[in-house]
Amino acid sequence: MSAIYVHLPFCPYICPYCDFAKWPHRGSLAHDYFAALVDEIRREPAFAARTLYLGGGTPNTYGCARIADLKALLDAHFGPFSESSIELNPELVAAGDMDAYARAGFDRVSIGVQSFEPREIGTLGRRHTQSEVTRAVSAARQAGVRSVSIDLMFGVPGQTVQSWGRTLKSAVTLAPDHISAYGLTVEEGTPFWQWREKEPGVFPGDGLEADLYELAIDELGAAGYEHYEISNFARPGHRCAHNENYWANGEYRGFGVGAASYRNGVRWVQSRELGSYLQALRDGVQVPAQCEHLQSAAAAGEAVMLALRTADGVAFEAFAQRYGIDFLEFYRPVIRDMQRDGLLAVDGERARLTQRGRLLANDVCGAFVTFA
Ligand code: SF4
Repeated sequence: MSAIYVHLPFCPYICPYCDFAKWPHRGSLAHDYFAALVDEIRREPAFAARTLYLGGGTPNTYGCARIADLKALLDAHFGPFSESSIELNPELVAAGDMDAYARAGFDRVSIGVQSFEPREIGTLGRRHTQSEVTRAVSAARQAGVRSVSIDLMFGVPGQTVQSWGRTLKSAVTLAPDHISAYGLTVEEGTPFWQWREKEPGVFPGDGLEADLYELAIDELGAAGYEHYEISNFARPGHRCAHNENYWANGEYRGFGVGAASYRNGVRWVQSRELGSYLQALRDGVQVPAQCEHLQSAAAAGEAVMLALRTADGVAFEAFAQRYGIDFLEFYRPVIRDMQRDGLLAVDGERARLTQRGRLLANDVCGAFVTFA
């Protein structure tokens, strides 16, 4: 098992586009959840993992003292980790917090920024200011955190090529080690979904989204960031090892409500119902989960989908060794179509998405997953 994920689902406010398992932070509920989570972790037989990721939600709604306790428990159970990340909302980072996270052993922080444009920040329902982001990044630097990452978002209603360009420039000026740039996905059941039903014209269409994505690739590439995964850019030596494990179809164990795990060809996703999660831990029974046994062809299809997201692509030899499948032979018809459409580049060792393929990555990856 290579990676541990821990889900801390409480947030100071709820963003109208968010589809994660999350709830507004309320003291007693957050307290009960923390106790249940600790219980779930303690019940798992100890093993050595390489990376740790605390995500959410907003992990730093708990404050650094409780996070440090949790980290100590995880270290004792699954450490030492070669990379330990925590997601942070910048407006909740108080003086001294970054030092406390660094002392607790977090060597990587991922700061949720999304945009530097006040209007877009408001549209997304976020509450930070540019100076809070700047303060959080410099506090992380001063605390000696090895890798500082920021998350950005394009495809925001009302966003233009100019406003996205300004956000990218502000991000580059802060010189983080890593930048994630995600396209906004409008998920059913969110307030954004209802908004788009009523006013579809407010949301950027496919053409503008492609322009925004290409601008990110150009600007971040020019600033020295390697585009190592569809949505991720890193300075040399700063790729996120935890996520690289996902994309390599490696095993992982997720703790907490809605967390996913993958082990021995079985993937399971724990209940997203907070009540049933807490009840299961109170009753001392397994957290209800949806399980999926991935048969070899399905597992190989998933592996292709994940690998194609990365700049390294699918390595034929390693793929054959792990899945017993000759990639070029098995997927010949799909590869032919993708090459014809300029979406896939194939050399003697690897297959990778072209720049055009990255723009249409979901379609390309979907074709490999459904082919069997
Ligand atoms: S802070 Fe993050 S997890 Fe919480 S509601 Fe907003 S997007 Fe979702």
